[in-house]
Amino acid sequence: MKDKGKAPQFFLTTCVFQMFSETFFYVGCPSCKKKIVPSEAKGHCANCQADFEEPMHIYSFSVLLADGSERLWAQVFGPNGESIFGSLPSFILP
Ligand SMILES: [Zn+2]
Repeated sequence: MKDKGKAPQFFLTTCVFQMFSETFFYVGCPSCKKKIVPSEAKGHCANCQADFEEPMHIYSFSVLLADGSERLWAQVFGPNGESIFGSLPSFILP
């Protein structure tokens, strides 16, 4: 056997999430992901110069990650938040 005698190729890690703000998302442009401002349509993106009837909710929050030896502040944005929560923000909003 080729791998006989090698150390296992895995490790275990854990972390604790702490969220420090009440808002964990913003309403953003589906194209460029920048914050949008309310308009006569449901949202207007100044960057794209476009109106959107269905703007996106985009994750954006800070977390303090700790593993028992160190602490690290991190910013979670968009798809990374979707990976953590397993869904888009609009699915977990009341
Ligand atoms: Zn835009």
